[in-house]
Amino acid sequence: MRYLDPHAHMVSRTTDDYRAMALAGCVAVTEPAFWAGWDRSSASGFADYFRQLTEFEPTRAARFGIDHSCWLCLNPKEGHDRGLAREVLAILPEFLDRPTVLGVGEIGLNKNTRNELATFEDHVALALDRGELILIHTPHLEDKLKGTRLIIDALRHAGADPDRVWIDHAEEHTLGLIRDAGFWAGLTLYPTTKASPARAADMIETFGADRLIVSSACDWGDAAPTGVPTLALELRQRGHAESLIRRIVFENPCDFLEQCPKFRRPARG
Ligand SMILES: [Zn+2]
Repeated sequence: MRYLDPHAHMVSRTTDDYRAMALAGCVAVTEPAFWAGWDRSSASGFADYFRQLTEFEPTRAARFGIDHSCWLCLNPKEGHDRGLAREVLAILPEFLDRPTVLGVGEIGLNKNTRNELATFEDHVALALDRGELILIHTPHLEDKLKGTRLIIDALRHAGADPDRVWIDHAEEHTLGLIRDAGFWAGLTLYPTTKASPARAADMIETFGADRLIVSSACDWGDAAPTGVPTLALELRQRGHAESLIRRIVFENPCDFLEQCPKFRRPARG
């Protein structure tokens, strides 16, 4: 089964992870810029990171037949530093022009601070000005519902087209809210935190597969880079049709991503 993992932080994964993903049928990953687990000391640290995402990582993925594209931004956590945000936003456009960059992301909120919201709004303004797709990180745990509401309000206020925005890390209490507002909703499949494959399957059964994108969101913490095929197996074991599974792991992410002309839809195989 060929599938996409549209949210995977491959810079913090090993080559063995690429191999495991390729063996499980992964044909494309898209990698959002994120917090590395430690704060960078300057905007030049981000310039190097953006070069890694656009120059080195695609070649590493290509060895396994995986197409690699990415999203760029200053992440919500470091976005609390408004001085740094201004410096990173100034260098962002030259990198957004690169051929494998699909849009602005993952922007959003971490602790729902005023500074984070201001940096989020700056990124949204840049994305809308350039006609970029937007990928959004919603806060964790007790901050998630409030943060998701703040994000949706800010997007509406900015005049964003919901069909071109993917709001990720949805859970049972935010999935309906996101899709009712017209946005694409993402489920991130973690073995322990966020949505387990079984919880994600429950949500698909409850809410349906419209405008839904699933990914492993694998990063430097505990994560399973094969989260997407694990969800496919869970759905298959529950007796769901192959057409539903293919829609969730292949057609849906392609339908969203190909709104960016730089995205190359993989052959279904
Ligand atoms: Zn992420």
